[in-house]
Amino acid sequence: MNFDHVKQFLEERGEPTYRLKQIKQAFYVDLLGSWEEVTVFSKELREVCKQAIPWDALSSVKGQQSPHGDTMKTILACADGKKIEAVLMCHEDERNTVCISSQVGCAMACSFCATGTMGLKRNLTRDEIVEQVIHYARVLKAQGERVSNVVFMGMGEPMHNMDEVMAAIRVLNDQTGFCLGARHISISTCGVVPGILRLADEPLQVNLAISLHSAIDEVRSKIMPVNKAYPLVKLMDAVRIYMEKTNRKVMFEYLLLKGINDREQDAVALANLLRNRLRLSHVNLIKYHQTEAFQGTERPDRIAFLDRLHELGIPATHRITFGEDIDAACGQLALREEQGKLLDGLAAVRAART
Ligand code: SF4
Repeated sequence: MNFDHVKQFLEERGEPTYRLKQIKQAFYVDLLGSWEEVTVFSKELREVCKQAIPWDALSSVKGQQSPHGDTMKTILACADGKKIEAVLMCHEDERNTVCISSQVGCAMACSFCATGTMGLKRNLTRDEIVEQVIHYARVLKAQGERVSNVVFMGMGEPMHNMDEVMAAIRVLNDQTGFCLGARHISISTCGVVPGILRLADEPLQVNLAISLHSAIDEVRSKIMPVNKAYPLVKLMDAVRIYMEKTNRKVMFEYLLLKGINDREQDAVALANLLRNRLRLSHVNLIKYHQTEAFQGTERPDRIAFLDRLHELGIPATHRITFGEDIDAACGQLALREEQGKLLDGLAAVRAART
């Protein structure tokens, strides 16, 4: 819901200021699903509001749940018909993480990423970003649970849409509204240096994750064109500034691609890259969902790579890859839907975890 419009509408009608608070409470705290449910308003006021202001900026098109029940992926439609995706991951330790999109498509063209092949359609607005979280908050509310973490790791490069991303974070963080702590929110970038420097100066203590995927310029430039604009030396200089200003840990995401970035020299290069920043660095190794272009590193080799990083003194974990069985790699579900090939429900579930 667009609260700028709501505020203006209520003011023009001469409604008391507490009405705005009541709608905020209904939308962000009580997580109601329509104007009809706002029973603190008269029926007549509900009706005029409904005619003037849409309750939701997004509508759910298609959902998919993993057989293990720990991951749910949903395609959401914007008012202009554009489709985006958001994923809910329910962890065993009771955290519920929502992975959200910041753009329709993406301009960054990473060669391993389905979203990258779509190109950029447009940026998402603050409300479209926030409502991906609200969508799952309503789902969780029905089970007596709530969203505990938000990560910008869905479609798009969040640092190419920083104004709306930061506006959305402020809404989610609002103590009188959704009230999600900034430390529970992470922005993941493929390495957009100006965005990292901007985040370093933001007062909100949002987490930073870097999609690194290689510590060798030649390799990284091949799989991530952003590396040509911001090679590793520039990227790591921005990371150094971010760490110095915030004293906050940086997550380095590393998708393991068979024969591309999982060799001995790749582990050594990664260790050398992070050697002077170990206190505030952590590497997350991620299983790759096989595509026509790339094969993922097999499980024994992923574990061997992790062991090698540990031998080299690098703090690293092999992230539990939620959604391995529902094509949860960024962009894949939305792309299929766009091509009219989305399979129905659990029929689309891929092979079980390896
Ligand atoms: S990996 Fe992220 S930044 Fe790269 S093309 Fe995909 S969505 Fe864009």
